[in-house]
Amino acid sequence: MIDLAFALPADRPLRVLAFGAHADDIEIGAGGLVLSVCAARPVSVDWVVFTAEGERRAEAQASAEAFTANAVARRVEIFDLPGARLPAVWGELKTLVDERRDRRPDLVLTHRRADRHQDHALVGELTWNSFRDHLVLEYEIPKYEGDLGQPDLFVPLGEEVLETKIALLEHHFPSQRHRSWFDADTFRGLARLRGVECNSPTRWAEAFHAPKVRLDPMCPADGSPLPTGLKGRQS
Ligand SMILES: [Zn+2]
Repeated sequence: MIDLAFALPADRPLRVLAFGAHADDIEIGAGGLVLSVCAARPVSVDWVVFTAEGERRAEAQASAEAFTANAVARRVEIFDLPGARLPAVWGELKTLVDERRDRRPDLVLTHRRADRHQDHALVGELTWNSFRDHLVLEYEIPKYEGDLGQPDLFVPLGEEVLETKIALLEHHFPSQRHRSWFDADTFRGLARLRGVECNSPTRWAEAFHAPKVRLDPMCPADGSPLPTGLKGRQS
């Protein structure tokens, strides 16, 4: 299997912008990727949660800080738009997404447009509407509606990373423990399935939908002189 990697000079921070409709979405969908990339190279993270009130706000803040503890720079923004009703505040949400174009991200993590939760789907749609020259990966959230689909981009996770992701989720979101699906079995089970699908050398993986990826076969291995891109690496 040929791996894709970020072709950037080693000392140039990778700029990651992550959108989550709700307090724990980014962590569930892309927490392993964030932990892994922050451990591997300099990363600056913009972490944006659109709906979090009361105890969920504090949970979101602490969790975002824990997941990005190894980032060289971090900005966490938590808004209090109405949960489960984001379509009712379409204009406000679009403005918040639009305004974050000035972060000039290399990688945007967002919800799937095909997600059956109305808040998730709208965040995904507005992400693509605003970020038109970016690498956008849509993460997946297991849920009652059963809308996982077949992802096409896989990120192998070390077992230690996966266990850290699960431990942080369980520690930082006590308000969600009563939900039948919010447990280590769900997170570990999905990671094992995605690991099978990509023949992960570690057995575990997170998976994403990558509707649009640009591959430059001429891009040099260290990423220069291009500011961003992907390189092929033989594993
Ligand atoms: Zn959510």
